[in-house]
Amino acid sequence: MLFELAYGIYKGRNTYRLNDAVGSLFLGTLSQVRRFVTLGVGGYVYYLITQYMALPLMDTSHWWTWVFAFVLYDFCYYWLHRLGHERMILWAAHVAHHQSEDYNLSTALRQTSTGFLLGWVFYIPMYLAGVPAEVVISVGSLNLLYQYWVHTEHVPKLGWYEWVFVTPSNHRVHHAQNDQYMDRNYGGVFIIWDRLFGTFQEEQASDPPVYGIRGPLRTFNPFRALTHIYVDMIKDSWHTARWQDKLRVWVARTGWRPADVAERYPREKTDLSNFTKYDPAITTWVGIYAIFQLLAVIVLSDRMAAVELSYWWGVALWAVLLTTTVTTAFWLDGGSAVRTLPWEGARLLAIIALSGGSAVGGADPVIWLSGVAYVVANAVLLAVMVWRLNPQRGGAALV
Ligand SMILES: [Zn+2]
Ligand SMILES: [Zn+2]
Repeated sequence: MLFELAYGIYKGRNTYRLNDAVGSLFLGTLSQVRRFVTLGVGGYVYYLITQYMALPLMDTSHWWTWVFAFVLYDFCYYWLHRLGHERMILWAAHVAHHQSEDYNLSTALRQTSTGFLLGWVFYIPMYLAGVPAEVVISVGSLNLLYQYWVHTEHVPKLGWYEWVFVTPSNHRVHHAQNDQYMDRNYGGVFIIWDRLFGTFQEEQASDPPVYGIRGPLRTFNPFRALTHIYVDMIKDSWHTARWQDKLRVWVARTGWRPADVAERYPREKTDLSNFTKYDPAITTWVGIYAIFQLLAVIVLSDRMAAVELSYWWGVALWAVLLTTTVTTAFWLDGGSAVRTLPWEGARLLAIIALSGGSAVGGADPVIWLSGVAYVVANAVLLAVMVWRLNPQRGGAALV
């Protein structure tokens, strides 16, 4: 990411904005610590299939097992990803990857925290076919790693390679909201699935991609980013008069709404002809504060993975991480100090209480002292930032 940022600046075509990149990386960090809070049922279903239903055809020692699994995984991914756009209940999870209005390597790390709910269903064929679990995990990891590098505007079309593989150019199309680019190019590694099933669209020089979603989020709040489509669905299901429609909301195509609700509560879609990126003015100190919190949550998520945590400590630290990203987003949204400071105060007090709790529980002093040091550094930075908020210079208003 730093290389891409430096290259963009050097070429006079920087594709990063601090607010958008921090927002994406917050969502990436949250997606990594989600596992401390919830367990999917997918693992258990996979276990049952491998125990009782799988065809005993494959073995890790055969090279073709790996090739077959690699291709089959991407085929399963294509359908998960396609329905992830076409069905509202799956879009509610996947939308987190698409809210960024920039397109760079930080967008790749912008990931959902709710994909575990239903995503596993699409990989059942791999287990039924008898692909060993370690092979599924390995090819799945390779598939995910491959998808990282295609999230850049700096790589042009790549000739013959475009025919077979997912590339920066054809994945830019996937992230664009232009009419002809919508719901296209779902492949993870291979673009051949899109060519086969009629969802391929080439990037056109005459129609540069406009990144983002049609019903823009217009906040950097990660909690809203992760929940806004679910909230829309709950509201529609609640408001509609017909029982069939209350249920249909949950299985409908993306964008479908009960007629009575659509009439009473219309939702605006962006007019792309005068599209502007969501970009509230912030002061330099808000930017510094956001980078500080980004580093803090990355260190915290790394430590959570490194030490052995009880379940409730996992939940508590996940909550600390989530609230830290949410209050930071308040500032990035240009929120007022009067509204945001009480949340920050409550969050810092909670971290002090947790540090004290871990000290009483006999934790390594390094752990609770880090908590205290973080709160002190955070409070100082907060004080400087609020002091330097200056509405005249386009900063967030104090009130
Ligand atoms: Zn997508
Ligand atoms: Zn993507």
